[in-house]
Amino acid sequence: MEKQNDQSRMDRIVSLAKRRGFIFQSSEIYGGLNGFWDYGPLGVALKRNLKECWWHDMVAGHDELATLPGAPEPYEMAGLDCTIIMHPQVWKCSGHFDLFHDWLVDCRESKRRYRYDHLNGRWAAHRGKKVFVVTDQSGDEAIPHTVLRAQKFFGLRAKQVEEIEWEGGLVALAASITAGTVTLDTALGPDAAEPGTLTPPREFNLMFETRIGALAGNDDDRAFLRPETAQGIFMNFKNVLDTSRVSVPFGIAQIGKSFRNEITPRNFTFRSREFEQMEIEFFCKPADSAAWYRYWRDRRWSWYLKLGLSAGKLQLREHDADELSHYSVGTADIEYAFPFLAEGEFGELEGIAHRGDFDLRSHMEGKLVRKDGQLVVEMGADGKPRHRGSGKDLSYFDDVTRERYVPHVIEPSAGADRAVLAFLCDAYHEDEVPDEDGKPRSRTVLKLHPRLAPLKAAILPLVKKDGMPEVAIDLYRRLKAHMPCMYDEKGSIGRRYARQDEAGTPWCLTIDGQTLADSTVTLRDRDTLVQTRVPIDACVELLRERLR
Ligand code: ATP
Repeated sequence: MEKQNDQSRMDRIVSLAKRRGFIFQSSEIYGGLNGFWDYGPLGVALKRNLKECWWHDMVAGHDELATLPGAPEPYEMAGLDCTIIMHPQVWKCSGHFDLFHDWLVDCRESKRRYRYDHLNGRWAAHRGKKVFVVTDQSGDEAIPHTVLRAQKFFGLRAKQVEEIEWEGGLVALAASITAGTVTLDTALGPDAAEPGTLTPPREFNLMFETRIGALAGNDDDRAFLRPETAQGIFMNFKNVLDTSRVSVPFGIAQIGKSFRNEITPRNFTFRSREFEQMEIEFFCKPADSAAWYRYWRDRRWSWYLKLGLSAGKLQLREHDADELSHYSVGTADIEYAFPFLAEGEFGELEGIAHRGDFDLRSHMEGKLVRKDGQLVVEMGADGKPRHRGSGKDLSYFDDVTRERYVPHVIEPSAGADRAVLAFLCDAYHEDEVPDEDGKPRSRTVLKLHPRLAPLKAAILPLVKKDGMPEVAIDLYRRLKAHMPCMYDEKGSIGRRYARQDEAGTPWCLTIDGQTLADSTVTLRDRDTLVQTRVPIDACVELLRERLR
């Protein structure tokens, strides 16, 4: 029985990802760069397939004449691809310039830097000495880490750890400091030898900064790499409206890179500094927005299920009122039980937010803040708007009802890399299959949905003689015209199946002695291991049908 959440399972997934060319560390020959990842030959195909599924299901294949289940009415979808660097005022009005930060804590001794909200700890005592042991580890790693740290601090041997007295369980450092139950003087940093080396928390803006043009130097050249793709959509709301035939309700979708200077990138690709997002801004009439929010929340949830993520490991979590951004009317996260998390913990794959008219108004009027329950333009000390908006009219005129209004926005915002990671983790299985002699052999298999699988089929001549390669190559060429597939004649048939199982290839077509006699091939199914004989001329259509 496979344990759902354990680190060693995660380690085996990371190792497979590297060994089979799914994901590599960026700049690895120079020691790698923390928070940056490259996709290898199989990984790039998997990620492209995932993005292609999203684009097809949300945009290109969307039926704008039908009322989809749960949708209040038919709607249109349009695509967009905009720049990573935008006018700096975009980020000032959106709130990112002032508010897109995390709190960080430095360690004066180890020179390491931590995200304040990622630090937890517990009180440990030994022979009258007491210390609050802080860990930056999460999930199953956290408690053992505090034990190790305390052992070292008290100068104990491994068999003496039982002598340590622990007060209560793991608690958040930030909450403990706010409550006054811990002070920074008594906190032993995650990599420090003595307590009192952690600095007070300070804000750290997550946007990567750059300079535009050769004469870099003054503040006007300052620009930012986008931390989300969404703002580019708001920038083009009017352009899309004026140049295409869309009318409210409609959505604009975009897939693209985003950058966040995360303080502590971790958990493989889950928290990266450069990643890809798949975002939709859906514009609707204010009165219908609650219904559209429910529609998108449920639609996005079922998308992951249809592509094969296990329902038991997925969670739809509605935010509590105190978790909502000041402008949000409702937000739900779609979360997955990643193996690097402790039992019962989930990591965000996608957020679906009801953003009201906050974004369009911000870019019209200037940066908004909530005051007495209303969104108003934030004023600076000089009595002028703190960040001035564009002054452009981003309202919408409804030709039918003759009403003018600022549309409300529903935003399903997904991460392509986190989704790839979730599908990889979910697909990863270890089981036993009989080898050529009928003996059980352990295998690693990626049970990826055929739409996501990097290769759809492998064509394998049983032996490299008797005309089998020629027949196999002919079939390979016919199939390749319709789907990614590969020809492989190297090694025993068992090893070749094993290679395809690890790559997540759903079907293998084997050309054997019988093929030469009756023009049938063996079709092997990756998940059920069932082998059926299929006429060679029916293979292409059969697999195309299965992919549909
Ligand atoms: P988290 O709380 O995990 O940092 P977030 O709430 O800041 O995430 P959003 O701003 O809602 O995330 O971004 C939308 C989506 O973009 C996330 O659901 C996630 O899939 C993806 N994403 C955000 N930050 C990262 C990152 N550092 N690395 C990879 N994907 C990310």
